[in-house]
Amino acid sequence: MFPKRENRIALISCHGDPAAEIGKEEAGGQNVYVRQVGMALAGLGWQVDMFTRKASAEQAAIVHHCEGCRTIRLVAGPEDFVPRDEIYGYVPDFVDAFQRFEAEEGVRYSLVHTNYWISAAIGMELKQRREIAQVHTYHSLGVVKYQNVSPVPMIAGTRLEVEKAVLKTAERIVATSPQEKEHMRSLMSSQGSIDIIPCGTNTEHFGSVGRNQARQALGIAADEKVVVYVGRFDPRKGIETLVRAIAASDWRNSGKLRLIIGGGSRPGHSDGKERERIEGIVQELGLASFTHFPGRLSREILPTYYAAADLVVVPSHYEPFGLVTIEAMACRVPVVGSSVGGLLYTVKPEETGLLAPPKDVGAFKEAIDRILNHPEWARQLGNNARKRVENLFSWQGVARQLSDLYEQILTEQATRKFADELYQQKLAEKPVRSLASELLEATLTDSSTRKPA
Ligand code: UDP
Repeated sequence: MFPKRENRIALISCHGDPAAEIGKEEAGGQNVYVRQVGMALAGLGWQVDMFTRKASAEQAAIVHHCEGCRTIRLVAGPEDFVPRDEIYGYVPDFVDAFQRFEAEEGVRYSLVHTNYWISAAIGMELKQRREIAQVHTYHSLGVVKYQNVSPVPMIAGTRLEVEKAVLKTAERIVATSPQEKEHMRSLMSSQGSIDIIPCGTNTEHFGSVGRNQARQALGIAADEKVVVYVGRFDPRKGIETLVRAIAASDWRNSGKLRLIIGGGSRPGHSDGKERERIEGIVQELGLASFTHFPGRLSREILPTYYAAADLVVVPSHYEPFGLVTIEAMACRVPVVGSSVGGLLYTVKPEETGLLAPPKDVGAFKEAIDRILNHPEWARQLGNNARKRVENLFSWQGVARQLSDLYEQILTEQATRKFADELYQQKLAEKPVRSLASELLEATLTDSSTRKPA
């Protein structure tokens, strides 16, 4: 009989713990992506194990998220926070720990979906050790990122090599926007197989709170003009551009303007330096009386912050996808974003928001004021934004596309394996014609039983 293909998959996110609190230190979009994808895939019947590096002795080794989906924290290097650029040295330890886990559990994954370049190296190392299919999502491309940051870190050369290699060796690359695919093709290689499957968001959660309700909950008056940023404190996020644009805004001295900069840890953490720098600029420009830093915002409270906003600003210098953008859009709020990366895909200028060149304070000021000055138009943009997210960026739709991709790869893999085995066993006994018809029959039978249990 033809073997049933695997129903168990491993997602690997070595530095982005899917069970971490989001919004602090280095925890951001990748953590959210892996967790949401994992849970949505479990909802489609997959057994999903999400592997990450254990970053403190107190952390649980296994976290159950829902039926069929868990995070597994492997010990690789110190059980302590290690900045992402320093984790690469622990790749072999991570692969050893992964294989030990498989042996202990009595499982053997046929497919890994790796996230970010460090996990790409883990998948490639696994492929060196045994047969396993790899799907890879970059989340950020070094070749683009390093055009926008200085100084370039020591690890850059290694990262670029790994990113180029995995494009060729993985069974499939998942680009989250047409722009990302274009960067891979123009800046990395013409080889490799790339599918475009965007990031998604929970359209029930984001969109569940109305504007009046949100403003009441946060103590914001109906006639205030509210501009919101949500995200990590990292220089590449461009928060400085937003702050300087607000300082130039027509609304600056109106007594009606409120700027909310959400996200980040308490002082003393790795992102504290950028937060202090931004707070310093806010003071220096005299914006402190109407600028608020609520710190890390929980998933529960986030829809309230978005819904209370007149607009959300995503002023990144570089943004591979930008989950905050589609979260805000799902809450019917227009977005003013930089004209870079995934934002060129998610934001439709003049339809769902506006785009401005990165670091261009004047252009951001113009875009912010246009939306603040035209509330009726802003509401229209917000409604269009919601529709765009429903059509293109819901987790259910995204997970379904990923599920189809895994299924296709695993079916091809199982068919190849089966054909090899059959060939070895039976070539000696049977005429080639009968072997071929057996294979054909097996493939047809399999295609009628494809859905995961
Ligand atoms: N986030 C959060 N709380 C915060 C700040 C950010 O939950 O206080 C979440 C945000 O909602 C989004 C993710 O962190 O889901 C950031 O993802 P994005 O792709 O926008 O940026 P990245 O962190 O990947 O650069």
